[in-house]
Amino acid sequence: MPQPVESGKTGDPVHLDGSRSPSSGLRADLHTHTTHSDGALSPYELIRRAHELGLAAVSITDHDNVGGLDEAIECGKSLGIEVITGLELSVTLGDKDVHLLAYFIDHKNRDLLDYLMFFRRERLKRAERIVGKLNKINVPLKLESVLEQAGVGSVGRPHIANALLDEGLTDTYHEAFERYIGTGGPAYEKKYQLSPVDAFRLINKAQGLSFLAHPGKYTTELELSALIKNGLDGIEVVHPAHDEKLQEYYKGLVNQYFLLESGGSDFHGGKKNDDHTLGTYTIALQIVETMRSRLFS
Ligand code: AMP
Ligand code: ZN
Ligand code: FE
Ligand code: FE
Repeated sequence: MPQPVESGKTGDPVHLDGSRSPSSGLRADLHTHTTHSDGALSPYELIRRAHELGLAAVSITDHDNVGGLDEAIECGKSLGIEVITGLELSVTLGDKDVHLLAYFIDHKNRDLLDYLMFFRRERLKRAERIVGKLNKINVPLKLESVLEQAGVGSVGRPHIANALLDEGLTDTYHEAFERYIGTGGPAYEKKYQLSPVDAFRLINKAQGLSFLAHPGKYTTELELSALIKNGLDGIEVVHPAHDEKLQEYYKGLVNQYFLLESGGSDFHGGKKNDDHTLGTYTIALQIVETMRSRLFS
């Protein structure tokens, strides 16, 4: 169960520095996952929890999937919490796997939906190939167990790792990656590669804004400037992988390149993995308004 905040008086979430915002300081968490990708909560459960935590706005950013948005929007309306349409797209930058966050997208856009459908089919084919490779090296994982893990979400390596764990074919989740499915492992398979340029085009068609998700320590300024030149709108500054120094660094780049900033908890859990990060990495609601004003400029 989520922890009620201070007898539910203000409902203000805790921030990075451990303080609580004043009740006028409305907060938003713009990075969350549901059962429509690799999260443990349904959109309804997630929005309800965000509301209980006192958040003013939340974005659902499932991996390569917008299937949870309608339920989240409806739930947001009934509870009085703003739900911003979102999506976390996987793209390939050189030899790196990079995540882009899209916000304020028209999640019914035909081109976007067609691409996501195509990508989901590609992911399914890839899961079949990975299971095939595992079986060849005498790891008797069944595709059905993987699909069961994925549920309505698009299937990825985390589902395969969890299936291996549940079937007792590996001792830990991480061991599944280390021994079998991590990059270069005996059952590793690449996924379909979407270029950042094509991703920006898709996000633009759906009238959304594109952000580089959790650039962390490993994104070079050269990579960033290439993304910016190609149409990146902003950078995710607040994220559990960013300490204060990194946040300051990316905030500096945001100002230098006249970009937008975003932030969120990258919340995945709640049921299975005891993840209580929802609402602990937030941005001021005012920043969401700045994002929105960029849409119409
Ligand atoms: P996929 O998009 O199917 O390739 O899965 C990528 C996801 O797998 C990442 O977002 C991580 O959650 C997880 N992952 C990748 N490599 C590792 C690793 N070495 N250990 C644990 N999890 C990993
Ligand atoms: Zn994820
Ligand atoms: Fe990510
Ligand atoms: Fe994420």
